Amino acid sequence: MILLGAVAVTLSDAAGIRKLAPAAGPTSMPYYTAIPAIATIPPDVGERGARTYARLWGQFFVPLEGADVPEDPALMPGAPRDYRAGIHEGIDFPAPPGTAVLAAATGRVVRVDLSFLDWTREQQEIALYEALTLGYTPAATLDRIRGRQVWIDHGNGVVTRYAHLSAVERLSVGQLVEARTPIGAVGSSGYPQGGPHLHFELRVGEDYYGDGLSGDALVRAVSRLFR
Ligand SMILES: [Zn+2]
Repeated sequence: MILLGAVAVTLSDAAGIRKLAPAAGPTSMPYYTAIPAIATIPPDVGERGARTYARLWGQFFVPLEGADVPEDPALMPGAPRDYRAGIHEGIDFPAPPGTAVLAAATGRVVRVDLSFLDWTREQQEIALYEALTLGYTPAATLDRIRGRQVWIDHGNGVVTRYAHLSAVERLSVGQLVEARTPIGAVGSSGYPQGGPHLHFELRVGEDYYGDGLSGDALVRAVSRLFR
């Protein structure tokens, strides 16, 4: 599916039931994006989806020195995130705070939160309440939840996102970074309730890697990303 808005984040039920988000009307909250509900990768593991994913296999280093690739379903893309009526779009690597985060592949920095101000607990509570009321996580809320971030563009619509960082390196937008360059440190910014971990997200076009996969196929697809 295409985006961070209503479509992507309504696939929250473990049962796989697709719930449509309420349509934005004059009295409802402004809708963050108006991209229609057309999946770029089929929800089943069709030939096209498998090919799209397979071209990424082996292209990335694990973004934390010596870390294992997680296998716990709760840490995988597509896992439900009931606290915000949404789904997880990345791969979570639990790690001690301060652990160096490394660029998973060579690319250009497209975002680095050098002057980051975290939201307050009260702001977070209001936003989460709103998400639960809406039945999906608005994209702006999801971005706050990801906290301090670095994004790296690897070309061909492939972008990696590193989230919840406690600090970032003095990178600049447009800067080329080699694979395994330190880019920041593990933290829990944006959502301290989640504890320190790296949220590593692989965007493929408008979609997140792993969308449409589940169970063992998802775990295998995540594992195959890394060298
Ligand atoms: Zn995460």
